[in-house]
Amino acid sequence: MKKESSIENQLENFRKEEHSVMEEERILDGAETAEESSSDLEQALRPASLKEYIGQDELKHNLNVFIQAARSRNEVLDHVLLYGPPGLGKTTLAMIIANEMKGNLVTVSGPALQKSGDLAAVLSTLEAGDVLFIDEIHRLPRQIEEILYPAMEDFYLDIIVGKEGASAHSLRLALPPFTLVGATTRAGDLSAPLRDRFGIILPLHYYAKQDLERIVSRTAGILDVEMDEDAVSEVALRSRGTPRIANRLLRRIRDFAQVYNDGLITRQVAKDALNRLNVDELGLDTTDRRFLEGIIFRFKGGPVGLEALASSIGEDTATLSDMYEPYLLQIGLINRTPRGRVATAKAYEHLGVLPEELSGKGLPD
Ligand code: ADP
Repeated sequence: MKKESSIENQLENFRKEEHSVMEEERILDGAETAEESSSDLEQALRPASLKEYIGQDELKHNLNVFIQAARSRNEVLDHVLLYGPPGLGKTTLAMIIANEMKGNLVTVSGPALQKSGDLAAVLSTLEAGDVLFIDEIHRLPRQIEEILYPAMEDFYLDIIVGKEGASAHSLRLALPPFTLVGATTRAGDLSAPLRDRFGIILPLHYYAKQDLERIVSRTAGILDVEMDEDAVSEVALRSRGTPRIANRLLRRIRDFAQVYNDGLITRQVAKDALNRLNVDELGLDTTDRRFLEGIIFRFKGGPVGLEALASSIGEDTATLSDMYEPYLLQIGLINRTPRGRVATAKAYEHLGVLPEELSGKGLPD
Protein backbone atom coordinates (compact mmCIF):
# COMPACT_ATOMS: atom_id res chain seq x y z
CA MET A 1 0.00 0.00 0.00
CA LYS A 2 1.23 3.50 -0.79
CA LYS A 3 2.36 5.56 2.19
CA GLU A 4 -0.03 8.39 1.35
CA SER A 5 -3.09 6.23 1.34
CA SER A 6 -2.12 4.67 4.65
CA ILE A 7 -1.96 8.15 6.21
CA GLU A 8 -5.34 8.89 4.64
CA ASN A 9 -6.71 5.79 6.31
CA GLN A 10 -5.26 6.74 9.65
CA LEU A 11 -6.64 10.25 9.39
CA GLU A 12 -10.03 8.78 8.56
CA ASN A 13 -9.70 6.61 11.67
CA PHE A 14 -8.88 9.66 13.76
CA ARG A 15 -11.99 11.37 12.55
CA LYS A 16 -14.07 8.34 13.45
CA GLU A 17 -12.23 7.96 16.72
CA GLU A 18 -12.59 11.61 17.62
CA HIS A 19 -16.27 11.33 16.92
CA SER A 20 -16.71 8.18 18.96
CA VAL A 21 -14.59 9.44 21.84
CA MET A 22 -16.38 12.73 22.08
CA GLU A 23 -19.86 11.47 21.36
CA GLU A 24 -19.91 8.12 23.06
CA GLU A 25 -17.21 7.77 25.68
CA ARG A 26 -16.03 11.29 26.46
CA ILE A 27 -12.29 11.43 26.66
CA LEU A 28 -12.32 13.29 29.97
CA ASP A 29 -14.67 10.93 31.72
CA GLY A 30 -12.77 9.54 34.71
CA ALA A 31 -14.76 6.30 34.56
CA GLU A 32 -13.16 3.24 33.02
CA THR A 33 -14.32 2.30 29.52
CA ALA A 34 -14.99 -1.31 28.53
CA GLU A 35 -11.92 -1.19 26.28
CA GLU A 36 -9.74 -0.06 29.18
CA SER A 37 -11.01 -2.57 31.70
CA SER A 38 -10.18 -5.47 29.42
CA SER A 39 -6.89 -4.19 28.04
CA ASP A 40 -3.57 -5.78 28.99
CA LEU A 41 -1.93 -2.41 28.60
CA GLU A 42 -4.20 -0.95 31.25
CA GLN A 43 -3.12 -3.74 33.58
CA ALA A 44 0.53 -2.98 32.83
CA LEU A 45 -0.04 0.67 33.72
CA ARG A 46 -1.33 -0.10 37.19
CA PRO A 47 1.33 0.30 39.87
CA ALA A 48 1.67 -3.00 41.76
CA SER A 49 3.04 -1.74 45.08
CA LEU A 50 2.67 1.28 47.35
CA LYS A 51 6.22 2.28 46.40
CA GLU A 52 5.26 2.53 42.73
CA TYR A 53 2.00 4.35 43.48
CA ILE A 54 2.58 8.03 42.76
CA GLY A 55 1.13 10.87 44.86
CA GLN A 56 -1.61 10.70 47.55
CA ASP A 57 1.24 10.92 50.06
CA GLU A 58 -0.78 11.19 53.24
CA LEU A 59 -3.04 8.28 52.28
CA LYS A 60 -0.04 6.18 51.26
CA HIS A 61 1.83 6.91 54.45
CA ASN A 62 -1.09 5.96 56.68
CA LEU A 63 -2.04 2.90 54.67
CA ASN A 64 1.55 1.70 54.80
CA VAL A 65 1.53 1.97 58.62
CA PHE A 66 -1.74 0.00 58.86
CA ILE A 67 -0.44 -2.69 56.50
CA GLN A 68 2.90 -3.07 58.31
CA ALA A 69 1.15 -3.21 61.70
CA ALA A 70 -1.39 -5.83 60.57
CA ARG A 71 1.35 -7.91 58.99
CA SER A 72 3.56 -7.84 62.07
CA ARG A 73 0.59 -8.93 64.22
CA ASN A 74 -0.23 -11.64 61.69
CA GLU A 75 -3.72 -10.28 61.35
CA VAL A 76 -5.81 -9.28 58.37
CA LEU A 77 -5.98 -5.59 57.59
CA ASP A 78 -9.06 -3.83 58.95
CA HIS A 79 -11.77 -3.05 56.36
CA VAL A 80 -10.90 -0.10 54.13
CA LEU A 81 -13.21 2.45 52.50
CA LEU A 82 -11.69 4.45 49.62
CA TYR A 83 -13.61 7.43 48.32
CA GLY A 84 -13.04 10.05 45.65
CA PRO A 85 -13.86 10.89 42.02
CA PRO A 86 -13.49 8.22 39.30
CA GLY A 87 -10.05 7.46 37.85
CA LEU A 88 -7.97 8.52 40.87
CA GLY A 89 -6.66 5.06 41.75
CA LYS A 90 -9.12 3.29 44.08
CA THR A 91 -9.13 -0.03 42.20
CA THR A 92 -5.35 0.18 41.91
CA LEU A 93 -5.09 0.61 45.67
CA ALA A 94 -7.33 -2.40 46.29
CA MET A 95 -4.97 -4.47 44.14
CA ILE A 96 -1.96 -3.08 45.98
CA ILE A 97 -3.52 -3.90 49.36
CA ALA A 98 -4.06 -7.51 48.25
CA ASN A 99 -0.46 -7.69 46.96
CA GLU A 100 1.04 -6.19 50.09
CA MET A 101 -1.06 -8.41 52.36
CA LYS A 102 -0.27 -11.42 50.16
CA GLY A 103 -3.94 -12.33 49.73
CA ASN A 104 -6.05 -13.01 46.65
CA LEU A 105 -8.15 -10.18 45.29
CA VAL A 106 -11.80 -10.92 44.63
CA THR A 107 -13.55 -8.09 42.77
CA VAL A 108 -17.26 -7.40 42.52
CA SER A 109 -19.29 -4.34 41.69
CA GLY A 110 -22.08 -3.08 44.00
CA PRO A 111 -24.81 -2.91 41.35
CA ALA A 112 -23.97 -6.45 40.11
CA LEU A 113 -25.01 -7.92 43.47
CA GLN A 114 -28.78 -8.03 43.24
CA LYS A 115 -29.83 -10.99 45.41
CA SER A 116 -28.58 -12.02 48.85
CA GLY A 117 -27.42 -15.27 47.27
CA ASP A 118 -25.06 -13.33 44.99
CA LEU A 119 -23.12 -11.93 47.92
CA ALA A 120 -23.28 -15.20 49.89
CA ALA A 121 -21.76 -16.99 46.90
CA VAL A 122 -18.88 -14.52 46.74
CA LEU A 123 -18.25 -14.54 50.51
CA SER A 124 -18.22 -18.32 50.68
CA THR A 125 -15.35 -18.52 48.19
CA LEU A 126 -13.05 -16.35 50.33
CA GLU A 127 -9.93 -17.76 51.92
CA ALA A 128 -8.15 -16.44 54.99
CA GLY A 129 -6.37 -13.16 54.20
CA ASP A 130 -8.25 -12.50 50.95
CA VAL A 131 -9.27 -9.01 49.92
CA LEU A 132 -12.85 -8.58 48.74
CA PHE A 133 -13.09 -5.43 46.64
CA ILE A 134 -16.58 -3.99 46.19
CA ASP A 135 -16.55 -1.17 43.66
CA GLU A 136 -19.39 1.37 43.71
CA ILE A 137 -20.32 0.11 47.15
CA HIS A 138 -22.88 2.92 47.56
CA ARG A 139 -25.02 1.14 44.96
CA LEU A 140 -25.32 -2.07 46.97
CA PRO A 141 -29.02 -2.87 47.61
CA ARG A 142 -30.00 -2.38 51.28
CA GLN A 143 -30.94 -6.02 51.98
CA ILE A 144 -27.53 -7.13 50.71
CA GLU A 145 -25.79 -4.52 52.79
CA GLU A 146 -27.30 -6.11 55.88
CA ILE A 147 -25.67 -9.45 55.07
CA LEU A 148 -22.35 -7.66 55.05
CA TYR A 149 -22.64 -6.35 58.62
CA PRO A 150 -22.00 -9.65 60.49
CA ALA A 151 -19.55 -10.73 57.78
CA MET A 152 -17.50 -7.59 58.34
CA GLU A 153 -17.81 -7.48 62.11
CA ASP A 154 -17.60 -11.10 63.22
CA PHE A 155 -16.84 -13.04 60.04
CA TYR A 156 -20.02 -15.05 59.76
CA LEU A 157 -22.87 -15.34 57.35
CA ASP A 158 -26.49 -16.26 58.11
CA ILE A 159 -28.11 -18.07 55.23
CA ILE A 160 -31.70 -19.22 54.97
CA VAL A 161 -32.07 -22.83 53.86
CA GLY A 162 -35.22 -24.64 52.84
CA LYS A 163 -38.33 -23.25 51.20
CA GLU A 164 -40.23 -20.33 52.63
CA GLY A 165 -42.54 -21.27 55.50
CA ALA A 166 -42.18 -23.90 58.20
CA SER A 167 -39.19 -25.76 56.78
CA ALA A 168 -37.09 -22.63 56.33
CA HIS A 169 -34.39 -22.11 58.88
CA SER A 170 -31.24 -20.14 59.09
CA LEU A 171 -27.79 -21.60 59.07
CA ARG A 172 -24.73 -19.82 60.39
CA LEU A 173 -21.63 -20.13 58.26
CA ALA A 174 -18.26 -19.10 59.65
CA LEU A 175 -16.11 -17.10 57.24
CA PRO A 176 -12.33 -16.92 57.21
CA PRO A 177 -10.90 -13.54 58.26
CA PHE A 178 -10.81 -11.26 55.20
CA THR A 179 -10.49 -7.58 54.37
CA LEU A 180 -13.29 -5.75 52.65
CA VAL A 181 -12.13 -2.85 50.50
CA GLY A 182 -15.04 -0.66 49.41
CA ALA A 183 -14.72 2.07 46.80
CA THR A 184 -17.16 4.87 46.17
CA THR A 185 -17.40 8.16 44.35
CA ARG A 186 -20.15 9.18 46.77
CA ALA A 187 -19.20 8.64 50.40
CA GLY A 188 -22.29 10.64 51.44
CA ASP A 189 -24.59 8.03 49.86
CA LEU A 190 -23.27 5.24 52.07
CA SER A 191 -25.56 4.30 54.96
CA ALA A 192 -24.18 5.14 58.41
CA PRO A 193 -24.17 1.50 59.67
CA LEU A 194 -22.10 0.41 56.67
CA ARG A 195 -19.70 3.35 56.89
CA ASP A 196 -19.19 2.71 60.62
CA ARG A 197 -17.98 -0.82 59.96
CA PHE A 198 -14.91 0.37 58.07
CA GLY A 199 -11.95 0.79 60.41
CA ILE A 200 -9.92 2.67 57.80
CA ILE A 201 -11.53 5.44 55.74
CA LEU A 202 -9.29 7.08 53.15
CA PRO A 203 -10.13 9.99 50.84
CA LEU A 204 -8.41 10.31 47.44
CA HIS A 205 -7.75 13.81 46.15
CA TYR A 206 -7.15 15.17 42.67
CA TYR A 207 -3.43 14.86 41.86
CA ALA A 208 -1.08 17.81 41.96
CA LYS A 209 0.55 18.75 38.65
CA GLN A 210 3.99 17.41 39.56
CA ASP A 211 2.49 14.02 40.53
CA LEU A 212 0.62 13.88 37.22
CA GLU A 213 3.85 14.69 35.43
CA ARG A 214 5.48 11.69 37.10
CA ILE A 215 2.50 9.53 36.11
CA VAL A 216 2.64 10.74 32.48
CA SER A 217 6.41 10.09 32.30
CA ARG A 218 5.96 6.63 33.79
CA THR A 219 3.21 5.80 31.30
CA ALA A 220 5.29 7.15 28.40
CA GLY A 221 8.10 4.81 29.53
CA ILE A 222 5.76 1.81 29.62
CA LEU A 223 4.27 2.71 26.21
CA ASP A 224 7.79 3.27 24.93
CA VAL A 225 7.01 6.70 23.48
CA GLU A 226 9.44 9.56 23.20
CA MET A 227 8.22 12.69 24.89
CA ASP A 228 9.65 16.15 25.68
CA GLU A 229 9.52 17.46 29.23
CA ASP A 230 7.35 20.33 28.01
CA ALA A 231 4.91 17.91 26.47
CA VAL A 232 4.71 15.96 29.75
CA SER A 233 3.85 19.19 31.50
CA GLU A 234 1.16 20.06 28.92
CA VAL A 235 -0.57 16.69 29.31
CA ALA A 236 -0.40 16.90 33.11
CA LEU A 237 -1.95 20.35 33.00
CA ARG A 238 -4.94 19.21 30.98
CA SER A 239 -5.69 15.94 32.77
CA ARG A 240 -8.10 17.24 35.42
CA GLY A 241 -5.90 15.95 38.23
CA THR A 242 -6.85 12.38 37.21
CA PRO A 243 -4.36 9.61 36.29
CA ARG A 244 -6.84 7.67 34.16
CA ILE A 245 -7.46 10.77 32.04
CA ALA A 246 -3.71 11.51 31.80
CA ASN A 247 -3.11 7.97 30.50
CA ARG A 248 -6.01 8.15 28.07
CA LEU A 249 -4.94 11.53 26.67
CA LEU A 250 -1.40 10.28 26.28
CA ARG A 251 -2.54 7.30 24.23
CA ARG A 252 -4.53 9.56 21.90
CA ILE A 253 -1.67 12.06 21.58
CA ARG A 254 0.69 9.21 20.78
CA ASP A 255 -1.52 8.41 17.77
CA PHE A 256 -1.30 11.98 16.53
CA ALA A 257 2.48 12.03 17.07
CA GLN A 258 2.86 8.82 15.12
CA VAL A 259 1.10 10.29 12.10
CA TYR A 260 2.41 13.85 12.22
CA ASN A 261 5.79 13.73 13.93
CA ASP A 262 7.44 10.31 13.59
CA GLY A 263 6.22 9.35 17.03
CA LEU A 264 7.93 12.14 18.99
CA ILE A 265 5.61 14.00 21.33
CA THR A 266 6.61 17.65 21.60
CA ARG A 267 4.59 20.33 23.38
CA GLN A 268 3.23 21.52 20.02
CA VAL A 269 2.11 18.02 19.01
CA ALA A 270 0.46 17.57 22.41
CA LYS A 271 -1.27 20.95 22.17
CA ASP A 272 -2.53 20.34 18.63
CA ALA A 273 -3.83 16.89 19.53
CA LEU A 274 -5.54 18.16 22.68
CA ASN A 275 -7.15 21.00 20.76
CA ARG A 276 -8.44 18.52 18.19
CA LEU A 277 -9.87 16.48 21.04
CA ASN A 278 -11.58 19.66 22.32
CA VAL A 279 -9.67 19.59 25.59
CA ASP A 280 -8.82 23.16 26.55
CA GLU A 281 -5.97 24.69 28.62
CA LEU A 282 -7.73 23.94 31.89
CA GLY A 283 -8.54 20.39 30.82
CA LEU A 284 -12.21 21.19 30.19
CA ASP A 285 -14.16 19.54 27.40
CA THR A 286 -17.37 20.49 25.59
CA THR A 287 -19.66 19.32 28.38
CA ASP A 288 -17.71 21.25 31.04
CA ARG A 289 -18.00 24.37 28.94
CA ARG A 290 -21.73 23.80 28.40
CA PHE A 291 -22.06 23.37 32.18
CA LEU A 292 -20.47 26.81 32.69
CA GLU A 293 -22.29 28.41 29.75
CA GLY A 294 -25.56 26.99 31.06
CA ILE A 295 -25.10 28.74 34.42
CA ILE A 296 -23.90 31.96 32.83
CA PHE A 297 -26.25 32.33 29.85
CA ARG A 298 -29.39 30.50 30.93
CA PHE A 299 -29.36 31.39 34.62
CA LYS A 300 -27.52 34.72 34.60
CA GLY A 301 -24.55 33.28 36.47
CA GLY A 302 -26.65 31.43 39.09
CA PRO A 303 -27.48 30.38 41.66
CA VAL A 304 -29.12 27.43 39.96
CA GLY A 305 -30.00 23.95 41.23
CA LEU A 306 -28.15 21.05 39.59
CA GLU A 307 -31.35 19.46 38.26
CA ALA A 308 -32.53 22.61 36.51
CA LEU A 309 -29.09 23.10 35.03
CA ALA A 310 -28.83 19.46 33.93
CA SER A 311 -32.15 19.56 32.11
CA SER A 312 -31.33 22.88 30.46
CA ILE A 313 -28.14 21.49 28.91
CA GLY A 314 -29.54 18.02 28.25
CA GLU A 315 -27.28 16.11 30.67
CA ASP A 316 -27.96 13.63 33.38
CA THR A 317 -27.88 15.06 36.94
CA ALA A 318 -25.80 12.20 38.37
CA THR A 319 -23.25 12.52 35.56
CA LEU A 320 -22.88 16.22 36.23
CA SER A 321 -22.55 15.77 39.97
CA ASP A 322 -20.08 12.85 39.82
CA MET A 323 -17.95 13.64 36.78
CA TYR A 324 -18.03 17.37 36.16
CA GLU A 325 -18.92 19.37 39.19
CA PRO A 326 -16.16 18.16 41.56
CA TYR A 327 -13.39 19.33 39.23
CA LEU A 328 -15.07 22.63 38.34
CA LEU A 329 -15.40 23.29 42.09
CA GLN A 330 -11.83 22.22 42.72
CA ILE A 331 -10.36 24.66 40.23
CA GLY A 332 -12.64 27.48 41.34
CA LEU A 333 -14.83 27.92 38.24
CA ILE A 334 -18.03 27.41 40.21
CA ASN A 335 -19.10 27.75 43.82
CA ARG A 336 -21.76 25.79 45.63
CA THR A 337 -24.11 27.93 47.72
CA PRO A 338 -27.20 26.89 49.71
CA ARG A 339 -29.33 28.20 46.79
CA GLY A 340 -27.40 26.41 44.05
CA ARG A 341 -24.34 26.69 41.81
CA VAL A 342 -22.87 30.01 40.81
CA ALA A 343 -20.23 30.75 38.16
CA THR A 344 -17.17 32.57 39.52
CA ALA A 345 -15.32 35.48 37.92
CA LYS A 346 -12.71 32.93 36.80
CA ALA A 347 -15.40 31.10 34.79
CA TYR A 348 -16.44 34.29 32.98
CA GLU A 349 -12.81 35.01 32.25
CA HIS A 350 -12.12 31.49 31.02
CA LEU A 351 -15.04 31.64 28.59
CA GLY A 352 -14.15 35.19 27.58
CA VAL A 353 -17.55 36.57 28.60
CA LEU A 354 -18.15 39.96 30.17
CA PRO A 355 -20.97 39.83 32.77
CA GLU A 356 -22.67 42.91 31.22
CA GLU A 357 -22.97 41.11 27.85
CA LEU A 358 -25.34 38.59 29.38
CA SER A 359 -28.80 40.04 29.53
CA GLY A 360 -31.19 38.47 27.08
CA LYS A 361 -28.68 36.06 25.57
CA GLY A 362 -29.48 32.45 24.93
CA LEU A 363 -27.11 29.53 25.14
CA PRO A 364 -24.63 29.54 22.25
CA ASP A 365 -24.77 26.53 19.92
P1 ADP B 1 -10.58 4.27 40.19
O1 ADP B 1 -10.76 2.86 40.69
O2 ADP B 1 -10.44 5.28 41.28
O3 ADP B 1 -11.61 4.69 39.16
P2 ADP B 1 -8.14 3.17 38.98
O4 ADP B 1 -7.50 2.54 40.16
O5 ADP B 1 -8.84 2.23 38.04
O6 ADP B 1 -9.16 4.34 39.42
O7 ADP B 1 -7.02 4.03 38.22
C1 ADP B 1 -7.13 4.43 36.88
C2 ADP B 1 -5.81 4.27 36.15
O8 ADP B 1 -4.97 5.34 36.56
C3 ADP B 1 -5.08 2.98 36.50
O9 ADP B 1 -5.16 2.07 35.47
C4 ADP B 1 -3.64 3.37 36.69
O10 ADP B 1 -2.95 3.06 35.50
C5 ADP B 1 -3.65 4.87 36.84
N1 ADP B 1 -3.30 5.29 38.21
C6 ADP B 1 -4.16 5.54 39.22
N2 ADP B 1 -3.50 5.97 40.30
C7 ADP B 1 -2.20 5.99 39.98
C8 ADP B 1 -1.02 6.36 40.69
N3 ADP B 1 -1.09 6.82 41.94
N4 ADP B 1 0.16 6.25 40.07
C9 ADP B 1 0.21 5.82 38.79
N5 ADP B 1 -0.87 5.47 38.06
C10 ADP B 1 -2.07 5.55 38.64
